[in-house]
Amino acid sequence: MAHTNTIRFGLAVVACGALAASIEAQQPPAAQQPPAAPPPITMKQLKPDVWAGLGGAGGNSTIIIGKTGVIVVDAKQTEPGAKDLLAEIAKITPKPVTTAIITHSDGDHVNGLVAFPAGIKIIAHEGNKKEQEAALAAGGRGAPPADKLPNQVVTKNKETMTIDGVKLELYHFAPAHTSGDLIVYLPDQKIVSMGDLVVTNRADDNPNIHFEKNGSTEGWLANVKGMIGLNADTYVTGHGDLLKKADLQRKLDATTARRNKIVAMVKEGKTLDEIKTALPDAPAPGAPARGAGAPAGGGGGGRGGPAPLTFVESAYQEITKGAKK
Ligand SMILES: [Zn+2]
Repeated sequence: MAHTNTIRFGLAVVACGALAASIEAQQPPAAQQPPAAPPPITMKQLKPDVWAGLGGAGGNSTIIIGKTGVIVVDAKQTEPGAKDLLAEIAKITPKPVTTAIITHSDGDHVNGLVAFPAGIKIIAHEGNKKEQEAALAAGGRGAPPADKLPNQVVTKNKETMTIDGVKLELYHFAPAHTSGDLIVYLPDQKIVSMGDLVVTNRADDNPNIHFEKNGSTEGWLANVKGMIGLNADTYVTGHGDLLKKADLQRKLDATTARRNKIVAMVKEGKTLDEIKTALPDAPAPGAPARGAGAPAGGGGGGRGGPAPLTFVESAYQEITKGAKK
């Protein structure tokens, strides 16, 4: 009897083990589970035919309704995120999306193009296209959709065009966030879409410069000055809330002051470490202070590899590059 019980117990253990193994096989590890639904997009009407699609999966988008179709500035990061955006657009107009304008090459503004209709016009700066081609060649999860590369490239610092009855001015004042930044200005509606040149989830004096994409802190100042010079009253950020011209001026003043301090310290012969200690990055608005669990940098691609340069590091490289020759 005791013998039989032992065998039964043993079989039960084996059966339980097999059951547990099969449950494990059906449930992939956490890292492989499909991502949760993206956060909802907040649609804000800016003018009768212009909306902002804030948040969701990726950067902010601007939606411009033309005579027969829709122009979308920036495409979100993922297929589900872009589908959410297209669903929101379908709620405000039956017209199809016919044109995308992409402000820069970061995946959170580009990669949602995978869900956009085939054959649409995709406008971007030539530097953006080059960066996307490089990302595509490198492969990996962050690569843009191969069949949605820009098919109309901006090469000048200013191009004026009318698309589907909508007047647009596209500006590239200088490389800043990346080498291929493109600003979309609607002169009739007085709206500027800035991409990640200006965001509200970072401190005013800490703009996000992708030095590895040939971005430039000096170029950033030129871009913000240029955008302030436009006759506009609403500025769509790359991440966060809408801004007014006074907000851009405040950010320009704060960043100019911080960069001037870096220039002065380089002239005094200070090392990069000394400058970084003297001018630490302020935390993002609403974020916990440094050392309290705030991630360093922030807003980057998060694709592994070396940490991207900070604002101070980028500015230091630019300033000393000229001096060391
Ligand atoms: Zn972004």
